[in-house]
Amino acid sequence: MLLQGYTKEMFLPKCNPNFQSVHCVAHLDQDISNVLPYLNTALGGGDYIKSPASLTLRIHGKLIALHAREIFVNALNDEGEADKILAWLKKEINETWEKREEIEPSFESPAPPQMMEILRLLPKTNCRECGEPTCMVFALRAAEGVKGPGDCPSLTSENRAKLESYLGNFSFDV
Ligand code: SF4
Repeated sequence: MLLQGYTKEMFLPKCNPNFQSVHCVAHLDQDISNVLPYLNTALGGGDYIKSPASLTLRIHGKLIALHAREIFVNALNDEGEADKILAWLKKEINETWEKREEIEPSFESPAPPQMMEILRLLPKTNCRECGEPTCMVFALRAAEGVKGPGDCPSLTSENRAKLESYLGNFSFDV
Protein backbone atom coordinates (compact mmCIF):
# COMPACT_ATOMS: atom_id res chain seq x y z
CA MET A 1 0.00 0.00 0.00
CA LEU A 2 1.50 3.34 -1.07
CA LEU A 3 -0.69 5.72 0.92
CA GLN A 4 -1.34 4.44 4.41
CA GLY A 5 -2.93 7.44 6.03
CA TYR A 6 -3.47 11.18 6.20
CA THR A 7 -4.58 13.95 8.52
CA LYS A 8 -7.56 15.98 7.34
CA GLU A 9 -7.95 19.71 7.88
CA MET A 10 -11.12 21.66 7.02
CA PHE A 11 -11.21 25.41 6.35
CA LEU A 12 -13.44 28.16 4.94
CA PRO A 13 -12.48 29.94 1.70
CA LYS A 14 -10.26 32.88 2.67
CA CYS A 15 -11.68 35.05 -0.13
CA ASN A 16 -15.16 35.00 1.41
CA PRO A 17 -15.71 33.24 4.77
CA ASN A 18 -19.48 33.70 4.32
CA PHE A 19 -19.61 31.15 1.49
CA GLN A 20 -21.53 28.01 2.33
CA SER A 21 -18.91 25.64 0.89
CA VAL A 22 -15.76 24.51 2.71
CA HIS A 23 -12.35 23.32 1.56
CA CYS A 24 -10.15 20.59 2.93
CA VAL A 25 -6.52 19.57 2.79
CA ALA A 26 -5.24 16.09 3.58
CA HIS A 27 -1.66 15.99 4.89
CA LEU A 28 -0.32 12.67 3.61
CA ASP A 29 1.77 10.23 5.64
CA GLN A 30 3.57 9.06 2.47
CA ASP A 31 4.90 10.75 -0.70
CA ILE A 32 2.57 9.96 -3.65
CA SER A 33 4.57 11.72 -6.41
CA ASN A 34 5.37 8.51 -8.28
CA VAL A 35 1.76 7.40 -8.66
CA LEU A 36 0.52 10.68 -10.19
CA PRO A 37 1.29 9.89 -13.89
CA TYR A 38 -0.40 6.50 -13.48
CA LEU A 39 -3.36 8.13 -11.75
CA ASN A 40 -3.54 10.60 -14.63
CA THR A 41 -4.18 7.62 -16.91
CA ALA A 42 -6.37 5.64 -14.53
CA LEU A 43 -8.75 8.52 -13.83
CA GLY A 44 -9.12 9.56 -17.45
CA GLY A 45 -6.91 12.64 -17.58
CA GLY A 46 -6.21 15.70 -15.49
CA ASP A 47 -3.61 18.45 -15.47
CA TYR A 48 -0.27 16.85 -14.69
CA ILE A 49 2.85 18.83 -13.79
CA LYS A 50 6.15 17.00 -13.53
CA SER A 51 8.14 19.25 -11.21
CA PRO A 52 7.13 19.69 -8.52
CA ALA A 53 4.79 16.77 -9.18
CA SER A 54 1.09 17.55 -9.07
CA LEU A 55 -2.13 16.35 -10.65
CA THR A 56 -5.29 18.47 -10.78
CA LEU A 57 -8.63 16.79 -11.39
CA ARG A 58 -12.12 18.24 -11.84
CA ILE A 59 -14.82 16.07 -10.36
CA HIS A 60 -18.49 17.11 -10.05
CA GLY A 61 -17.56 20.79 -10.01
CA LYS A 62 -14.81 20.28 -7.44
CA LEU A 63 -11.17 20.93 -7.99
CA ILE A 64 -8.92 18.23 -6.54
CA ALA A 65 -5.19 18.95 -6.48
CA LEU A 66 -2.86 16.09 -5.57
CA HIS A 67 0.69 16.95 -4.55
CA ALA A 68 3.52 14.85 -3.13
CA ARG A 69 2.40 15.23 0.46
CA GLU A 70 -0.96 17.00 0.26
CA ILE A 71 -4.35 16.70 -1.39
CA PHE A 72 -6.59 19.79 -1.68
CA VAL A 73 -10.33 19.56 -2.36
CA ASN A 74 -12.48 22.64 -2.74
CA ALA A 75 -16.20 23.56 -2.85
CA LEU A 76 -17.33 20.85 -0.44
CA ASN A 77 -20.78 20.83 1.13
CA ASP A 78 -19.58 19.51 4.47
CA GLU A 79 -17.01 17.36 6.25
CA GLY A 80 -18.86 14.17 5.36
CA GLU A 81 -18.37 14.87 1.68
CA ALA A 82 -14.65 15.53 2.32
CA ASP A 83 -14.35 12.14 4.07
CA LYS A 84 -16.05 10.37 1.18
CA ILE A 85 -13.83 11.97 -1.49
CA LEU A 86 -10.61 11.44 0.47
CA ALA A 87 -11.45 7.79 1.12
CA TRP A 88 -12.16 7.33 -2.60
CA LEU A 89 -8.87 9.00 -3.54
CA LYS A 90 -6.89 6.84 -1.10
CA LYS A 91 -8.45 3.73 -2.63
CA GLU A 92 -7.72 4.92 -6.19
CA ILE A 93 -4.12 5.86 -5.31
CA ASN A 94 -3.41 2.47 -3.77
CA GLU A 95 -5.19 0.42 -6.44
CA THR A 96 -3.43 2.35 -9.20
CA TRP A 97 -0.06 1.88 -7.52
CA GLU A 98 -0.68 -1.88 -7.21
CA LYS A 99 -1.55 -2.10 -10.93
CA ARG A 100 1.08 0.36 -12.20
CA GLU A 101 2.89 -2.23 -14.32
CA GLU A 102 -0.30 -2.66 -16.38
CA ILE A 103 -0.86 1.10 -16.78
CA GLU A 104 0.82 3.39 -19.31
CA PRO A 105 1.72 6.52 -17.33
CA SER A 106 0.45 9.80 -18.79
CA PHE A 107 2.49 12.98 -18.51
CA GLU A 108 -0.05 14.90 -20.59
CA SER A 109 -2.21 17.85 -19.60
CA PRO A 110 -5.38 18.20 -21.72
CA ALA A 111 -6.61 21.64 -22.73
CA PRO A 112 -8.73 23.15 -19.96
CA PRO A 113 -12.40 24.14 -20.44
CA GLN A 114 -12.77 27.39 -22.36
CA MET A 115 -14.23 30.28 -20.37
CA MET A 116 -16.06 31.73 -23.42
CA GLU A 117 -17.77 28.39 -24.11
CA ILE A 118 -19.16 28.50 -20.58
CA LEU A 119 -20.05 32.18 -20.62
CA ARG A 120 -22.15 31.91 -23.76
CA LEU A 121 -24.48 29.47 -21.96
CA LEU A 122 -24.98 31.69 -18.89
CA PRO A 123 -27.87 34.20 -18.50
CA LYS A 124 -25.35 37.09 -18.31
CA THR A 125 -27.55 39.04 -15.87
CA ASN A 126 -24.78 39.35 -13.25
CA CYS A 127 -27.41 38.64 -10.58
CA ARG A 128 -24.79 37.33 -8.07
CA GLU A 129 -27.00 34.50 -6.84
CA CYS A 130 -24.11 32.11 -7.42
CA GLY A 131 -21.92 34.06 -4.99
CA GLU A 132 -19.77 35.49 -7.78
CA PRO A 133 -19.79 39.20 -8.75
CA THR A 134 -20.44 38.60 -12.47
CA CYS A 135 -21.30 35.83 -14.91
CA MET A 136 -17.81 36.19 -16.36
CA VAL A 137 -16.22 35.45 -12.99
CA PHE A 138 -18.58 32.50 -12.64
CA ALA A 139 -17.43 31.26 -16.06
CA LEU A 140 -13.78 31.55 -15.00
CA ARG A 141 -14.52 29.67 -11.80
CA ALA A 142 -16.43 26.98 -13.72
CA ALA A 143 -13.48 26.61 -16.12
CA GLU A 144 -11.30 25.99 -13.07
CA GLY A 145 -13.76 23.38 -11.80
CA VAL A 146 -14.71 25.44 -8.77
CA LYS A 147 -18.31 26.16 -9.89
CA GLY A 148 -20.76 23.92 -11.70
CA PRO A 149 -24.13 24.17 -13.47
CA GLY A 150 -25.95 23.59 -10.18
CA ASP A 151 -24.50 26.82 -8.76
CA CYS A 152 -26.35 29.11 -11.18
CA PRO A 153 -30.09 29.08 -10.29
CA SER A 154 -30.94 31.24 -13.33
CA LEU A 155 -29.73 28.75 -15.95
CA THR A 156 -32.41 27.46 -18.30
CA SER A 157 -32.82 23.71 -18.23
CA GLU A 158 -31.60 23.56 -21.83
CA ASN A 159 -28.41 25.47 -21.10
CA ARG A 160 -27.92 23.61 -17.83
CA ALA A 161 -27.89 20.35 -19.79
CA LYS A 162 -25.50 21.85 -22.36
CA LEU A 163 -23.16 23.11 -19.64
CA GLU A 164 -23.23 19.76 -17.84
CA SER A 165 -22.43 18.04 -21.11
CA TYR A 166 -19.57 20.44 -21.92
CA LEU A 167 -18.00 20.32 -18.45
CA GLY A 168 -18.51 16.56 -18.44
CA ASN A 169 -15.72 16.38 -21.02
CA PHE A 170 -13.34 17.45 -18.28
CA SER A 171 -14.85 15.60 -15.31
CA PHE A 172 -14.64 12.24 -13.63
CA ASP A 173 -17.17 10.39 -11.53
CA VAL A 174 -16.59 9.67 -7.85
S1 SF4 B 1 -26.17 33.12 -10.73
FE1 SF4 B 1 -25.91 32.75 -12.93
S2 SF4 B 1 -26.78 34.57 -13.89
FE2 SF4 B 1 -26.39 35.11 -11.77
S3 SF4 B 1 -24.31 36.01 -11.75
FE3 SF4 B 1 -24.10 33.84 -11.30
S4 SF4 B 1 -23.72 32.91 -13.30
FE4 SF4 B 1 -24.59 34.94 -13.68
